[in-house]
Amino acid sequence: MKDETKIIAGNWPARDTTPATTINPPCYKGSTVLFNCYADMQKSRRGEYPGISYGTDRLPTQRQFEEAMRQLEGGAVTRVFQSGIAAIQTALMAFSGSGDHILIVDNAYDPGQRFCHKVLQKKYKMECTLVPPNVGAEIERYLQPNTRLILLESPGSITFELQDIPAITTIARQKNIVTLLDATWATPLYLKPFELGVDATIHAVTKYISGYSDLLAGTVTVGDRYAEQFAEFYKLMKIYTPAEECYQALRGMHSLAVRLRQHEQSALTLAKWLQTVPLVDEVLHPALPCHPEHHIWKRDFRGSSGLFAFTFKKDYSETELAAFIDSLALFKLGYSWGGYQSLLTAAKTARATPSRYAGKTVIRLSVGLEDCDDLREDLEKGMGMLT
Ligand SMILES: *Cc1c(COP(=O)(O)O)cnc(C)c1O
Repeated sequence: MKDETKIIAGNWPARDTTPATTINPPCYKGSTVLFNCYADMQKSRRGEYPGISYGTDRLPTQRQFEEAMRQLEGGAVTRVFQSGIAAIQTALMAFSGSGDHILIVDNAYDPGQRFCHKVLQKKYKMECTLVPPNVGAEIERYLQPNTRLILLESPGSITFELQDIPAITTIARQKNIVTLLDATWATPLYLKPFELGVDATIHAVTKYISGYSDLLAGTVTVGDRYAEQFAEFYKLMKIYTPAEECYQALRGMHSLAVRLRQHEQSALTLAKWLQTVPLVDEVLHPALPCHPEHHIWKRDFRGSSGLFAFTFKKDYSETELAAFIDSLALFKLGYSWGGYQSLLTAAKTARATPSRYAGKTVIRLSVGLEDCDDLREDLEKGMGMLT
């Protein structure tokens, strides 16, 4: 045999090699998946092959992570995506089509809203209506005969309004409208959306589930009703998520419960402290009794994560805000959240529907895993720059 052939034919898997059983799955990478015989390949052409036939057919590392998420969420089917926004976009496309009307809560992840307006509405002739972020049974007012889908996010990840999910899903069920819930804030541990009648959940795995700010991934998990429809659409879209991302997501997921408990505790401690700071106006945290939808949080959620916000009494100038923010040593400036390092964003919020925080600068904190006293001191020192 020539060397040129040897270096190829000698590649793994060697016929008689039994792979070692490690606790964690191997990272399956690849386009081509080999068939054992011609008959199997022919079966795959006919769509009758039960195995994996190509790289876009969800390789085993991906399947392992999907199954772990599915079990944790209690859904019927989970599929993974290359980002949280890709999960949102694909779920929207799977459950709606041209001529349909969809409702989106006004505090939903911004790029998802933009996709609805700029792609679904402009390009694909759908109609998108924003509904107030704290909507409940009044959602009925916004329904049209062609309303096909409702995209929820509770709480929203900037201003933390909550929707009355069971009130909405009860109405949607009666009218065969699909309800999608972005539950990234609560993670699968602190909210059980399928128990509240939601048809499908979305998670930006990028955040708490992976936990280390070192990857982008998303999942959609679908309940019994629409599982088959979604699995079929996913297959049609031929989505490929790299094995490393699935591996790392799975790895991060194993420590989610202990991390989240710490995020929760530190965030609550900081939120309660901020309530005592004279410069601070409102603290936007669903687990605080002063939160307008606290009763909903108490009824539906099992815990709170480490992301919340606050506003100042004074409308500080950009220069004043910069003095405060740039003096912080532990709260870093950056998008995304849910990682081990504390992050901060500050922005004036603009909403299409009436908002409690319209025109106000909302300071959002993603409380990381640093010592909580150190974090408080950091904020305290930073606020010393303000008057
Ligand atoms: C970050 C985020 C997303 C998008 O996730 P990416 O992986 O960054 O695309 C979706 N929904 C919420 C609530 C998010 O915070």
